[in-house]
Formats: sequence, C-alpha cells, structure tokens
Amino acid sequence: MSLIHCRDSGQPNSSSDLPLDSLSTEVAADTAAGQVKRKRAQTPLEKYSLKYLSVTDLSTQSWCEQQMVYGRELPQLQAPEKVRLLNTGKSIHLARELEVHDIVEVRTTSKEDSWALKILNLLSMIPVLQAGGCVRELPVFGVIDGIFLVGIIDELCYTAKGELELRELKTRGRPSMPSEAQKKRDYFQVCLYKYIFDAMIQGQLKPDVITRHIRLRPEQPLGSQIRQHAQKVGFVVTCFGDLLELMYLNLTLSDLPSIDRLTIEYSHQDSDTPLGTEVVEFEEEKVRERVQCYLAYWKGQREVQGVEIEEAWKCRSCSYSEICDWRRTRADGPEQRSGSKKSK
Ligand code: SF4
Repeated sequence: MSLIHCRDSGQPNSSSDLPLDSLSTEVAADTAAGQVKRKRAQTPLEKYSLKYLSVTDLSTQSWCEQQMVYGRELPQLQAPEKVRLLNTGKSIHLARELEVHDIVEVRTTSKEDSWALKILNLLSMIPVLQAGGCVRELPVFGVIDGIFLVGIIDELCYTAKGELELRELKTRGRPSMPSEAQKKRDYFQVCLYKYIFDAMIQGQLKPDVITRHIRLRPEQPLGSQIRQHAQKVGFVVTCFGDLLELMYLNLTLSDLPSIDRLTIEYSHQDSDTPLGTEVVEFEEEKVRERVQCYLAYWKGQREVQGVEIEEAWKCRSCSYSEICDWRRTRADGPEQRSGSKKSK
C-alpha cells in the first residue's frame, strides 16, 4: 500500500515555535511596606517558550543534561563534524521513509492546521498496521508527569511470529558499534517511544489532551488544503476538534497491539554497512523514573546537571568543554557545584 505522508509548508514545526501565552513571571507579594512586585524564576520550559518536549530532547538530556542545554542555547558552537553526521543521518532517514511513503507538501494556515497534519499522518498509518503492514515515521504524542511529549517512531512492523516490533535506525560516523553509554541513551529513547505508543492505544490520548497542553482551539476551522488532504486519506472533517475525536476513536477501537519488541539497528553512514542490531528490554518502572528525573529539570524543580565524575570522559569529545560551568566547578571540587548530587 502506498501511503501519503504530509509535510507542513506553512507553519513552523518545532516545540519552541509557540510562545507560552499566559506565563506571568511576576508574582505579587504583600509586604509591610506595601504592594511590591518580585520576579519568580522561570522554569526552563518557560525560559525556552516550550509547550512540549520531544523524545529526542529527553534522550539528548540522558547523555548530558548540561550539554543538551548548551546545544539549545549555543548551537553555533557544535563541532561541524557532529552537524554533518546529524544532517547525513536525516537524509538517510528521509530516503528510507520515501521507500514506503509518498511525501506531499500541504499548506497550513493556523497552529491547528499544523497539528492536524501530524494527526492525519498518524491516522493514515493505523489501517496499514491493522492490515499487518509496515509503517515508517509514525508520530506519537502523550503526557508524562504533566508534560506533553512528542516523538516519531522510525519503523513499526510485524515479525514472523506476529509481534509488533519497533525498529530504530541509528547511523554512525565510525564503522563500529557504539559504546555502552551510547547504547544506554538509545535504549532509553526506544523505551520512551513504546511507553507513549502503548498509552495512546490504551485510550490515554483523549481529545482534550492536545488542546489543553498546546493551547489549541478545537472549534478552529481547518484550512482548505488540510480538508482536501483529509478527504484523500478517507476522512471528512471541518474543524480541528473533528480530527481529535477521530484520532481518539481510531486509536482506541483499532485493536492495535502494544509494541512487543524493541530493536535498534546500527549502520555505518559512509558505507551503509550494517554494524549490528540490539534487542532492548523494556522496564516500565525504570523508564518512568528516568523521565520524571529529567522532567524535574524542565519544571524548574532542580538545577541543570552535567555528567558525574565516572562519566567525565564524555567531556573530552564535547563541543562545550571549553565553556562548561559544570566541568569547571567540578575541577574546583565537588563542593563548589550548586545543585549537584553529593559525591559518594
Ligand atoms: Fe556535559 Fe562535560 Fe560537555 Fe559539560 S563538558 S556539557 S559536563 S559533557
């Protein structure tokens, strides 16, 4: 079956494109001297104007939280080689996607239109999975600990035993398997995809979840190109809320199974040589704990942290090692660090 996967040609598409519209940083405080206004510290979510986070934000954070923050604030300092690797990886993913999808550009005229496209992509893949087919670049959405998360699953297929398998492709600059630390980051990423996907098909993505978290209007009429595209893939919709209802019903009534198996394929970018495949064990409790720990930073419940001393080797290949406050204070002694764990 040939799928159409739509791309947004009109609206920005990142989690930081939508400023939080009701974030007051001022809190009124009564004092003996009268009414004085003082500033409350912004949470990182507020500081970067984010309404949601991506799975890749959290997997990057799992490598080094401080590095993830520098990457957001100072992307120009990233080593050119790293940028080249990322861009080549994106091109390879696109080529694989084109093997199973036709990609069309659809003009959007509102924030709701942009989200409608993501939902239409998801909706168009459900029947393919129901029929036992394979899909690529499947969007997933969900809420953990009060934070909205989005992600894109590389590939979902059925194995010969009929298990639903998530396959993640990781391309590498070096012709060798990654280190254990790199694998750990990748394991976390695919576990998080499963966590969100399973919650979606279990009915946790209710129609109002997206509108509440992203602050979208269900009554917003969809643009003409979106409505035309929806019709092509079999849905008659007029407003954004129609699509949200359809998404909820299709996910919960589709009888799709939970993801049974998680695999990561590593391949060498330049030669396209497969390097190996890892099968990942899913431990729900551990995944939830790690996510909660990472989200605590985003919610302003703790300070940013760099790597612990046992992982200081990561700093040697870090683009930000020259300017890193965490690294400098660690060199001065662990007691100098603010917000760090106590050294054992
Ligand atoms: Fe993290 Fe080390 Fe890089 Fe600092 S120098 S951002 S602690 S990896």
